[in-house]
Amino acid sequence: MITLPAPCYLCGENAVLEGLCASCYAKEHPLIHVDTPLQIRTCKRCGAVKVPGGWKVITGPLPAKDELIERQLEMLLHQSVKHHVSGVEISLEEENRLDRVLHIRVNASGRSHNTLPSHQESYPLEVRFSHGTCDTCGMMSGGYYNAILQIRADNRTLTEYEEEKINTIVTQRTVEAYGKDVKAFITSASKDKYGLDFRIGSEHLCRRLADEIERTFLADKKVNYKLVGQKGGKDQYRTTILLRLHRFVTGDFIRVATKPCQILSMSKKGISCYDLTESSTFTINPKSSKWKGIEFLAPSSESRQCMVISRQRGQPAQLMDSKTYEMLEVEDHLLNPESKNGSVVHVVQIDKRFYRCPKPRQS
Ligand SMILES: [Zn+2]
Ligand SMILES: [Zn+2]
Repeated sequence: MITLPAPCYLCGENAVLEGLCASCYAKEHPLIHVDTPLQIRTCKRCGAVKVPGGWKVITGPLPAKDELIERQLEMLLHQSVKHHVSGVEISLEEENRLDRVLHIRVNASGRSHNTLPSHQESYPLEVRFSHGTCDTCGMMSGGYYNAILQIRADNRTLTEYEEEKINTIVTQRTVEAYGKDVKAFITSASKDKYGLDFRIGSEHLCRRLADEIERTFLADKKVNYKLVGQKGGKDQYRTTILLRLHRFVTGDFIRVATKPCQILSMSKKGISCYDLTESSTFTINPKSSKWKGIEFLAPSSESRQCMVISRQRGQPAQLMDSKTYEMLEVEDHLLNPESKNGSVVHVVQIDKRFYRCPKPRQS
């Protein structure tokens, strides 16, 4: 006995699923649904799109107009198109563009049922644009800030290296937080003889920046709160974080406990020191009991380039300053055994004694 397929109850073709042929099944079970017209509100400064509960920003560098509109439409459709099945691919075709109205075609391709072949659907859509100012741009243009980050150095100005490094940290972390924290912006950045000041929208961002700069430069941190007003019966505070970088930088001379040392490098782990009396290296970290007693001795510029004039066992080595031709003496055991007459060495005078030091480094 042969069973004939039942006819589709809508068109009479051979039915394949639930009494319908493939094409009638697809018409009865569309892939997507999209209402028309749709409204979209965008920020005229940064291109962000208004979504329920806030604004969704365009991340990365602001694209050119056509790409910006495309990305804004993607955001709009992401929240406005209802998907009835999964695995649907959507593409857009622009049909007509006026100043604030865009006519597009939304194409969808996919399967209405996993036993059926893929098919295409197409819907006309009118999008009406309106422009506004997002919360972030509004606060920024109004000069709003909730925290201040101040960076100073102890008894000196910030070095170029320090300023550059700090600006890089501030820029990178702000870009990373953009779009996640509505107040993640720098309202103003200023530089004067005392150091750097940043006025920041978000206290959270300010704290993140301060923590990273503190760790990078082993700086001292002080946090202050200032009452700036009241809102809804609650006191409103503004946070100021002051970071003070050490007097010393890489290459400078410091005393750790009783030992005169040269700083070879500074990092989150601590200070790597060259012990001038022992000609050895060690690292001291902020948790060490000796940390608080670190004393600044001399800047790296105090080191002098000299030439070895004579060395004799059991006698101090005789050196000549390459700039002033002054003769000076260094205990022989402090010099490298390879340093022969005519070799160039660097020395520094501390407590009226000369010590050999590694070649000075710049930071
Ligand atoms: Zn049919
Ligand atoms: Zn904006």
